[in-house]
Amino acid sequence: MVSLRSMPRWTAEADVVVLGAGLSGLVAAVTAHEAGAHVLVLEKMGPDRAGGISRVRYPQIVWAPRPEKLSALIAYQTALNEPNPLPEPELRAWAEDMVGLSPWVGEHIAAAGYVWSPWDASVLNWVPGPEFPEMPGADCVDRLFAAGPGSGGLWRAFAALREHRGIAIRYDARAFELVQNGDQSVAGVLAREGNQTTAVRAHRGVVVATGGFDAAPELLRDYMGFAEAYPIGSPHNTGDGFRLLQRAGAAMWHVRNPTITGGVWPAIKVPEHAAAFFAAQNLGVGSYIEVAKDHRRFYAETGGWNRFHNKLQRFGGWVDQPIATMLPVHMILDDRVRRACRLARPIYWNAEMEHRWSADNSVEVAKGWVIQAGTIAELAAKIGRDPEALMATVERYNTDARLGQDPEFGRAPERVAPILEPPFYALALVPGLVGTTGGARRLPDGRVLDHDDHVIPGLFEAGELGSPLANLYENGSFLTEAIRSGRAAGASAARARS
Ligand SMILES: Cc1cc2nc3c(=O)[nH]c(=O)nc-3n(C[C@H](O)[C@H](O)[C@H](O)COP(=O)(O)OP(=O)(O)OC[C@H]3O[C@@H](n4cnc5c(N)ncnc54)[C@H](O)[C@@H]3O)c2cc1C
Repeated sequence: MVSLRSMPRWTAEADVVVLGAGLSGLVAAVTAHEAGAHVLVLEKMGPDRAGGISRVRYPQIVWAPRPEKLSALIAYQTALNEPNPLPEPELRAWAEDMVGLSPWVGEHIAAAGYVWSPWDASVLNWVPGPEFPEMPGADCVDRLFAAGPGSGGLWRAFAALREHRGIAIRYDARAFELVQNGDQSVAGVLAREGNQTTAVRAHRGVVVATGGFDAAPELLRDYMGFAEAYPIGSPHNTGDGFRLLQRAGAAMWHVRNPTITGGVWPAIKVPEHAAAFFAAQNLGVGSYIEVAKDHRRFYAETGGWNRFHNKLQRFGGWVDQPIATMLPVHMILDDRVRRACRLARPIYWNAEMEHRWSADNSVEVAKGWVIQAGTIAELAAKIGRDPEALMATVERYNTDARLGQDPEFGRAPERVAPILEPPFYALALVPGLVGTTGGARRLPDGRVLDHDDHVIPGLFEAGELGSPLANLYENGSFLTEAIRSGRAAGASAARARS
């Protein structure tokens, strides 16, 4: 942290300074502005890449529980968070916000000219209902929403509101340090704009809403134990807010949970792009398998893992798919799969912002991202695997697949087909993250706590960074929390003592 005494001159000022123009930051800015505060948003990226993962046009699902489900919601979220419990009064306050959120969101979405409506489950072939129906209170998951038309309306609506209301934003302004008084209270923030350092005075508070740290390999390694993992979302969420909060003396929480809240997904990382492609799962043609470091299969590749955020029910509980612990992992496929099934999903960050994967994978084969060979033995040699071992795995799978069976892992018969038609291909799969929840410990109203459980005056947090949600993830709750916490932090900051 920088102390106020050692500060150069302030170069800008506002009542409330919001760091990050993702969904949570924009909601905080709009809310603080509605409460009469003079607001300034500092956003690290330029207008074409600002907005983090919130700006991408994926099927953004928002979980909006009904008020009459309050008790069920408290029970359900207690079960999801179990290893990292929230204190009861905080959980209740959070749940009360959650069940009261939908009308407020609907009004704001409509004011921006967008539509807030029940989510169409057929878009993702999603089975409506809770991800963990066996848990107490699961029936609180009975209402999902989305902002349209099309996908991605949620962020666009709040971005439009910020603009219509004349709330100031400085793009290409990377916040890196808070300025604090001797009593720890936050007086402002330093940001890098090109070669310049901007010192912004915050009369009431700073809201840190800089998203997750899934694009910070050293934080993923040091705090979450990932030797290798990549963002499927924004490659610009490099953990700046995480470090800034640590330096300010905040207590951190929810960094490493027994399961990774948003899941550990098969992803495709290529040198040309900083984020990973979201690998397609459950392909329509069955002549493919996935093999681990030991050249053997490790699960039913066509299972409906999507439905549980890539978690497996094991040992009486839930665990993450173990892809991160068994690298290298390769998908091995034949030419029928290559021709018919796009190997990366055509949505999410890379697909929208950088490169849309070709439907028949031919572009990616030509780029060398998908390795091609005439035989399995040749393929094994090209990807550094033992040819005998890989051939044995393929032959074992093929022997059963010719009979329409998968006794080893129980793939459904219609999803089983032998890998026969050359050329053959290998695609390296790596762990991909949709987000991280670690960050500063915050109260439901967004105030940040230090290591002695004291509030750090003038400091607020919102969104995925420091989310109260930990461990198991219910679909739609990240976006709801981005809105809920943005609204809470924006309101708290606006009424904070100057
Ligand atoms: C593929 C994918 C699918 C998902 N699907 C769903 C879903 O259906 N439902 C759901 O609930 N959730 C979903 N999520 C999660 C959800 O999208 C995110 O949790 C949510 O959008 C995070 O919002 P945020 O405001 O916290 O962060 P972001 O949207 O990531 O915004 C962070 C902002 O901060 C800026 N920033 C970073 N560092 C700085 C700095 N130093 N100074 C200034 N600005 C900075 C970034 O550029 C960015 O604009 C999905 C995530 C992914 C990746």
